[in-house]
Amino acid sequence: MINQLDKIEGIKRGHKLAKLTTFGMGGPADYFYELRDVMNLPELIEACEADGLPWVILGWGSNMIFSDKGFRGLVIHNLAKSIEMDGNLVVADSGALLSQIIQFALKNGLRGMEKMMGLPGTIGGAVRGNAGAFGLETKHIFEKALIYTSGGEVREVGPDYVALSYRHSRLKETGELVLKVWLRLEPGDTAEGVAEVRQIIASRAGKHPQGLTAGSFFKNPSGNSVGEGLSAGLMSDQCGFKGYHVGGAFISEKHANFLMNDGSATMDDVLNLSSLIQDAVLKKYGIRLEREVQLIGEKGKIE
Ligand SMILES: Cc1cc2nc3c(=O)[nH]c(=O)nc-3n(C[C@H](O)[C@H](O)[C@H](O)COP(=O)(O)OP(=O)(O)OC[C@H]3O[C@@H](n4cnc5c(N)ncnc54)[C@H](O)[C@@H]3O)c2cc1C
Repeated sequence: MINQLDKIEGIKRGHKLAKLTTFGMGGPADYFYELRDVMNLPELIEACEADGLPWVILGWGSNMIFSDKGFRGLVIHNLAKSIEMDGNLVVADSGALLSQIIQFALKNGLRGMEKMMGLPGTIGGAVRGNAGAFGLETKHIFEKALIYTSGGEVREVGPDYVALSYRHSRLKETGELVLKVWLRLEPGDTAEGVAEVRQIIASRAGKHPQGLTAGSFFKNPSGNSVGEGLSAGLMSDQCGFKGYHVGGAFISEKHANFLMNDGSATMDDVLNLSSLIQDAVLKKYGIRLEREVQLIGEKGKIE
């Protein structure tokens, strides 16, 4: 029987996922689609629902890990990257990279996002997880978004609905998808902005471990990214996890909250290592670490 997904032009079968995330792991996706127009998203989701198949949206892949066994549904790779001015707001397709938006803003004499230079990922991924760096969070510049709701509706929502907080948003709970984002930036001196970008790039350089990783693996339990209170990295370090290996997954020697892939990791390795750290931290500190990175099993999200 021909299903609904097979009728959509551009659908690929058995596409390998490993090279599409910064963790570098992932078997084949049964169905795969390169999204270049965000307004095509509803049709794809509706087809999956009609076919009873799971789906997942992939941005830049810097905060998600696919199973080495692949995904038994549709992976939608968001490559919709248009960025333009809408009055005095910058409006970007959710697949636009933060670095591209910063460059666009500076060219248009707008400042306020420079601290996010070097933060990998799309604006869609950044809104979902309220990404941030150097004290600037997505919530500080977010004006509104066009989303695809769990009820199958395309609609604009503001900050109250999206409810951005430390590495969290309502969308993370509902699974609703970001199609477009409007950002409020301030007119400013472009040369000063470019200088700030250079300084941010320099201060990020050498800070993060090199290699296959999805960034900070656990959220900081204190609910912030600036190192107040006990950080996940400090607790993992104090429990002796720096350099600790489980199969092909290991904890960086440089940063104890960076879970790395030596090129041979499996989802079991990631889950086992993650559980060992959670158990040790719970025993020593009485704190249950929560994952920041989204793990995607063969049939969907692993909570
Ligand atoms: C070296 C390194 C450094 C990092 N430094 C930082 C840092 O300083 N600060 C920080 O906050 N993060 C950091 N991260 C994590 C990562 O960059 C952010 O979480 C980023 O916002 C993820 O965006 P993405 O497009 O890569 O999302 P992906 O990894 O592609 O997706 C992450 C999750 O968001 C969902 N998603 C993606 N697009 C959408 C959409 N349009 N609508 C709804 N859901 C969507 C996915 O389904 C998935 O569940 C770092 C990661 C790495 C590898």
